[in-house]
Amino acid sequence: MTDRNQTLFERAQRVIPGGVNSPVRAFRAVGGTPRFIARAQGPYMWDAEGQRYIDYIGSWGPMILGHGHPAVLEAVQKAALEGFSFGAPTEREIELAEAIIALVPSIEQVRLVSSGTEAGMSAIRLARGATGRSKIIKFEGCYHGHADALLVKAGSGLATFGHPTSAGVPAEVVQHTLVLEYNNLAQIEAAFAAHGADIACVMIEPIAGNMNFVRAQVPFVKRIHELCKQHGALFVFDEVMTGFRVALGSAQSVYAKAIPGFAPDISVFGKVIGGGMPLAAFGTTREIMKHLAPLGPVYQAGTLSGNPVATACGLATLKEIAKPGFYEALAAKTQSLVSGLTQAAQAAGIPFCGDSEGGMFGFFFFDSLPQHYNAVMATDKERFNRFFHGMLDRGVYLAPALYEAGFVSAAHTEADIAATVAAAAEAFADLSK
Ligand code: PLP
Repeated sequence: MTDRNQTLFERAQRVIPGGVNSPVRAFRAVGGTPRFIARAQGPYMWDAEGQRYIDYIGSWGPMILGHGHPAVLEAVQKAALEGFSFGAPTEREIELAEAIIALVPSIEQVRLVSSGTEAGMSAIRLARGATGRSKIIKFEGCYHGHADALLVKAGSGLATFGHPTSAGVPAEVVQHTLVLEYNNLAQIEAAFAAHGADIACVMIEPIAGNMNFVRAQVPFVKRIHELCKQHGALFVFDEVMTGFRVALGSAQSVYAKAIPGFAPDISVFGKVIGGGMPLAAFGTTREIMKHLAPLGPVYQAGTLSGNPVATACGLATLKEIAKPGFYEALAAKTQSLVSGLTQAAQAAGIPFCGDSEGGMFGFFFFDSLPQHYNAVMATDKERFNRFFHGMLDRGVYLAPALYEAGFVSAAHTEADIAATVAAAAEAFADLSK
């Protein structure tokens, strides 16, 4: 019997590099044949063979309501009938900007764009333009999209700037990007001591979903906030993944509870605010935004920015997630998934730990939660890969790489969580054989 996924993968590889339009989809980290998805509904996806999966990727975060939510579908269908794209302002863009601002007190204005990459890249340009400085700090293991200046790994020592992680990025382009270890207070102190007057911004994933799930510790965020204020640098929260995913007020609301007076200077959003359509945003104060074109000299633009169908999808999604009790229910479900997985692993005698916030979760084949990139990469990859395939074979679709987060949607039921934990118990038992 031929597997249609395999047939499609071979056909795709002839015309699309590696057969995919974004590398992680190719299953290179875990091996095997990527599933070609034919359709999705609620918490499920079906592949080209008709096999059903409980979906814990949710398009890498956007599908917080699950697939095909009726209110979102209706809004998108209505908007599509009115026109796909105008290249002129629309009322819906104002509504979406107002909705985002209403939920995130640190923001007075937003600019809508089409991808998280674009939003992150624009936020850096704005930070540089507003401060008149060149240097930026990022943390190893945090992903902020694939803009040249952000595709950087740590140099050989703290005093050195980073090296490109991609061919095609000249060393000169990343010479102003300093890459530090996540959650390392001594390094951030030293970086500001050495370069404080030249640092335009510090960019961080507050809960790093690109390291599976690693929280920036509260004292770490607090200290970066203080150092930025002291040295006139801007603190950029990349909430493309965490935004409206971990809490209605995003990750910054979680840190604001723990750190009195805390707010990032610039926030970057994507994923959930588009509800599955190409839409992202960066937001900040009016004072900083006045540097952005057409008001100021920092250029930024986009043919499809604020697209009318995407904004309809985003607005309908935000309306649903703002309903009372939404995050409480989502967080409880996600917690029950992580604790179920942890108990099943323990029962099988497998070192395992997990964590979650709102509808975002992660787990590691390790005794304790890693605090930075090298620790994440030191967890048991071989076990993760076998577990991933064990779950996929049992109809559960987890992220196909040990450094990627997972997502639960409002459409997942307790029965879906229970079925997932039951599948995990079998997959863990196989691992310990
Ligand atoms: N920032 C973070 C934290 C992300 O997780 C991602 C993508 O996963 C991006 C930025 C880039 O977003 P996009 O893939 O929409 O360009």
